[in-house]
Amino acid sequence: MISLASQNVRLNATAKTKEDAIRAAGQLLVECGHIAPGYIDSMLGREQQANTYLSHGIAIPHGMPQHRDLIQKTGVCVIQIPAGVSWQNGETVHLIVGIAAKSDEHLGILAALTDVLDDPAAAGRLANTDNPEDIVAALTRQAPKGAITQGLVNAREITLNLLEGAGLHARPALAFAEVAQQYHCAVRVVYNGKVANGKAMASLLKLGVPGNGSITIQAEGSDADAALQALRSAIAAGLDDEPHQTEDLAPLTIPHWKPATELQSFTGVSASPGLAIGPLHLFQPTTLRVIQKGDTPKAEIQFLINALHEADAQLEDIHESVNTRSGKNQAAIFRAHQALLKDEELLDAVEQHIHTGNSAAWSWQLIIQQRVDEMKSLADERIAARAVDLHDVGQRVLRALAGATHAELILPDHPVILVADDLTPSDTARLDPTRVLGLCTALGGPTSHTAIIARSLDIPAIVGTGPAILELKNQAVCIIDGSAGQLHLHPTTADLESAEAFRHDLHSQRETENQTRYQPAILTDGHRVEIVANIGKAAEAAAAVEAGAEGIGLLRTEFLFLDRESAPTEDEQYAAYTEMIRALNGLPLIIRTLDIGGDKVLPYHPLAKEDNPFLGVRGIRLCLREPDLFLPQLRAIYRASQNGPVKIMFPMIATLEDWHAACEVAEKVRLEIGADPVDMGIMIEVPSAVLMAAEFAKEVDFFSIGTNDLTQYTLAMDRMHPALAKNVDGLHPAVLRLIDQTVRAATKENKWVGVCGGVAGDPLGALILTGLGVTELSMSLPSIAAVKARLRTTSKAKTQSLAQKALTLSTASEVRALA
Ligand code: PEP
Ligand code: MG
Repeated sequence: MISLASQNVRLNATAKTKEDAIRAAGQLLVECGHIAPGYIDSMLGREQQANTYLSHGIAIPHGMPQHRDLIQKTGVCVIQIPAGVSWQNGETVHLIVGIAAKSDEHLGILAALTDVLDDPAAAGRLANTDNPEDIVAALTRQAPKGAITQGLVNAREITLNLLEGAGLHARPALAFAEVAQQYHCAVRVVYNGKVANGKAMASLLKLGVPGNGSITIQAEGSDADAALQALRSAIAAGLDDEPHQTEDLAPLTIPHWKPATELQSFTGVSASPGLAIGPLHLFQPTTLRVIQKGDTPKAEIQFLINALHEADAQLEDIHESVNTRSGKNQAAIFRAHQALLKDEELLDAVEQHIHTGNSAAWSWQLIIQQRVDEMKSLADERIAARAVDLHDVGQRVLRALAGATHAELILPDHPVILVADDLTPSDTARLDPTRVLGLCTALGGPTSHTAIIARSLDIPAIVGTGPAILELKNQAVCIIDGSAGQLHLHPTTADLESAEAFRHDLHSQRETENQTRYQPAILTDGHRVEIVANIGKAAEAAAAVEAGAEGIGLLRTEFLFLDRESAPTEDEQYAAYTEMIRALNGLPLIIRTLDIGGDKVLPYHPLAKEDNPFLGVRGIRLCLREPDLFLPQLRAIYRASQNGPVKIMFPMIATLEDWHAACEVAEKVRLEIGADPVDMGIMIEVPSAVLMAAEFAKEVDFFSIGTNDLTQYTLAMDRMHPALAKNVDGLHPAVLRLIDQTVRAATKENKWVGVCGGVAGDPLGALILTGLGVTELSMSLPSIAAVKARLRTTSKAKTQSLAQKALTLSTASEVRALA
């Protein structure tokens, strides 16, 4: 607390007006060396904005935050006016406590002052005393240690941190009380064992809560929840404490390219940033299997009806998007296709074949082929040309009917922009970035594994573009803008030139960021965020260090198991982990145990078919059931841990039982090997793990939040779902609130929290996560230099303001708009 001496107190003063009194207090502050004279005007200015009268004849004039540079050193001076001076609204002031505060150091004085305010007789004595030490003693008295007042018994409560630098001094305390007063419920604030009435500014001041202080707000009554929500929002907005409202983040500079002319474009969701120019190549990933023998005619007819509906829905979608993009005339053809699906003559012919024991697929294929051949042989060329439409519709229905098998991804021998329905993780993992300039898929979302791998390969990518994209033909040149999520067709020469220039600028910006990639991400106020990498292959460890990573925050070990004929042996895994440890040369390596299931399937280890694979036997659930997969991996990890700093992390932990079971198996293996213990952590990617984070935090060494899964499970949107995946956005406030909850639980137990989902590598995401208190961000290699550079431009306080603001918003797009 700041000191107050008797020379800071002027007794027996007189003042005709309030202005005189404030000037006298200001003059004393000048004489005591606390402020430059100009600050007195600021004190008068503040008084015009807000009355600084407290109660019992005491006022606390102070200047405006934007004039804090006129404060030479934080301090307080007191003018005693025994005869009183008329203040405002009929109040008479006897004690003027002038405040010059650079930050929160005066809170102790305010807290002591509120003791005086609670005691009118004490205030009266100070107004008339002729001993300055009485005033000094009253204002510097320490609150009795451990003074605990009773809180509410059946209250709802929330615990949160005030913004940095926005402690509960006069103005924020008043703002808090004013919000609380709007509700019927009783509101209490608990800080450091002391309890205050949340509706009384003077009582709040008594707590002396500094900026960043953690308070618990209790509310009891019918509108308690609404009051808590309103107070949370008010705190997030800075409680009227101007400095934080004026300290905005510099705008995020995420450059976008815009074509000069209106081009034919497809819009999807940005999955991997960057811009590429090249020929478009359409990959048709399915071959059709048509079996002649059918099930019962009734069942086969139902298959046909379902397939016709599916084809109709796809055509409706395509019609919509082509109509919007290119107009009614271009879209009309898809209406014609829909009409073909309802051709009764054709459907009767198919049904006849089904009734003789053939499958719907076989019957459909036969009849369509006959009709196509008939049309082609007609003399009328225009009708003959329409055979192609019938063929297209036929294939569409057949795909829905026949069951499709995956075909090998074979690319031309020149670099292309690849357009596909979707790619499997192993197809994407095999992509050669020198042959694939960009990737655009009809399905998928930003958290699907296609997107994750594209980011790690630094290939501009768009996902969730919709089925219309598959109607495209190969083309000589197009432009893919991964950052904007757009594919542009038929660019003009001018557009090609400007896109090329933009690519060049982007490259230069990357070069600049790359130059500082080895420097840590230290914010302007000295706060450091650890930036580590997500990898899936042994060779990527060295590349991660080269990219500026300070370790590996997530090794997705399943990628060592994909793209092979059989599982890697214990020795092969040991060799791979050891290669990474050596490449990291002392930097930490977090090895996540196998996370098979969901969209990651092993070709040689078929899993039972499940209706909801993401909710099924996946991650740790699979490993606990399949010791043949789990034990060799754990043995390999513990053997490798003797070569360098390794931590173990379990995926898909939903319950404490999962964690205990996994630890038990791991500990047995460790003892068998005779290895030293290593840090053990869990992925927080299931909402139940967040809700139980307080319990987990007591036992684990660390948390790493998997926002990709946490988002899909929180929003109940499958990250692979064709229609929903594009909305699986980890910056949704629902997810941010869960992250906030996780960090709070971990902090209470002194455990650290990282994030290894896609949001960590997103420039806005990295800032918000830092503001929420996440201390380690793990991301794909190409994001590292850019995220480090971005974090270095800001302060922890600013990221906290941003994060608190984001927590109060209602939609992911509102959060994204903060950029
Ligand atoms: C996540 O869920 O965010 C995560 C990092 O794990 P994965 O994407 O491999 O499921
Ligand atoms: Mg996950």
